[in-house]
Amino acid sequence: MKEKYTFDEIVTHLKSSGFVYQGSEIYGGLSNSWDFGVLGSWLKKNIKDLWWKEFIEKSPYNVGIDSAIIINPKAWEASGHLAGFSDAMVDCKECKGRFRADNMIQDATGLSAEGKTPEEMDQMIEENNIKCPVCGKHNFTKARPFNLMFKTFIGTLEDSKSTVYLRPETCQGIFINFNNVLRTSRKKVPFGIGQIGKSFRNEITPGNFIFRTGEFEQMELEFFCKPGTDLDWYKYWVDYCFNFVKKLEINEENLRVREHDKKELAFYSKGTSDIEYAFPFTDWGEVWGIADRTDYDLKQHSEYSGKDLNYLDPETNERYIPYCVEPSVGVERLFLMICCDAYERQQLDENDERIVMHLHPALAPIKACVCPLSKKLSEPATELFNELSKEFYCEYDESGSIGKRYRRNDAIGTPFCITYDFDSENDNCVTVRDRDSMEQSRIPISELKDYIKARLIF
Ligand code: ATP
Repeated sequence: MKEKYTFDEIVTHLKSSGFVYQGSEIYGGLSNSWDFGVLGSWLKKNIKDLWWKEFIEKSPYNVGIDSAIIINPKAWEASGHLAGFSDAMVDCKECKGRFRADNMIQDATGLSAEGKTPEEMDQMIEENNIKCPVCGKHNFTKARPFNLMFKTFIGTLEDSKSTVYLRPETCQGIFINFNNVLRTSRKKVPFGIGQIGKSFRNEITPGNFIFRTGEFEQMELEFFCKPGTDLDWYKYWVDYCFNFVKKLEINEENLRVREHDKKELAFYSKGTSDIEYAFPFTDWGEVWGIADRTDYDLKQHSEYSGKDLNYLDPETNERYIPYCVEPSVGVERLFLMICCDAYERQQLDENDERIVMHLHPALAPIKACVCPLSKKLSEPATELFNELSKEFYCEYDESGSIGKRYRRNDAIGTPFCITYDFDSENDNCVTVRDRDSMEQSRIPISELKDYIKARLIF
């Protein structure tokens, strides 16, 4: 078992090694905004590529789209976001702190306030004599809803007719294209439409680094099936998502699937499960939500748009609004889970310690680092680097001792360091050093690409 590390230690490492930068740093930052750096942008890309491969390319059922961020605001009326996409907030009258009521209740009492009305939350705050997390006093305003959608204006006039919203989830862009995909893809129910894209939420209590931010990326699949088959598909997608997470080589003792009880379910949902991870800052945090959303979304869009979104079954001639199962995950949540799980500070002997990121090779930003043993070997080593770079993202590093170069690469998760030495000239072999075991193997240069490729398989 790996020892546990503090969240601060992991965040410091991610910031200092080029995974994540403070957003707008030279201007003093912007609250809740992060940029993904030289390595982080690769890790994000690799996560998205794997998702796309597993959920779209390899699936016999699914296709992908890329819909607009700003859509007709009527779609947000139909989805219920304009009326209901809000969290209840309370202000502390003493220190003026503002908190999400459900989080405050959960943190203070361990009780879930999900699905409770603001009035019920007020009651819970009173009954449990909950204190302000900042000043410790008990003197709050009533809980009141706060809409999480970012508002902006289209065109030159800033009035209510030109008000539009940055999407708070990508899936509505899928529902409103349901007929377009049916018309152009030759898919039949059951089938799914997936997409990856930015979402925006004016979160009241963002935080825990990139866990909850105002701007993030979602990878969502809307899977349409015949009513009555939905619960089977729901189970299918819970398993599919959980297997995906396990294949990322996340420690299973840090993972669980939590099925929501009836009281927690949204009114339109027949079942919802969260894949949760034991983040260092909380017991369990949601990473992936899988929900049976019934026919709610397509029905709503049918009603508000006046367009028929019924499906005509070509075999039975039945007409129905398909039910929808939605697995929805944030790229940054997966990113954070992967990094928390991969991080290790290893004591090798009394005076030697290394930091190693045990990233699955398919996720690692840099697949291999070519290290000539001496600068005298830079020419053939550069040639090797150029050759490998045709296939993988590689680094070339000739500065510092070979041991230091290994350590630098361990700390950023590079699975292989390839040492080109003076024997390489004669035997046409290189030494490949494995990040996790630190074992070294002599491999013919002609076999190197295949050797690496075999280890990148997901
Ligand atoms: P939470 O309870 O954590 O606010 P949610 O239940 O509102 O999440 P969904 O609306 O189901 O989340 O969104 C699906 C997924 O999108 C979440 O499981 C999470 O991975 C990601 N996600 C949601 N909100 C954020 C955010 N503010 N920052 C980063 N990722 C997010």
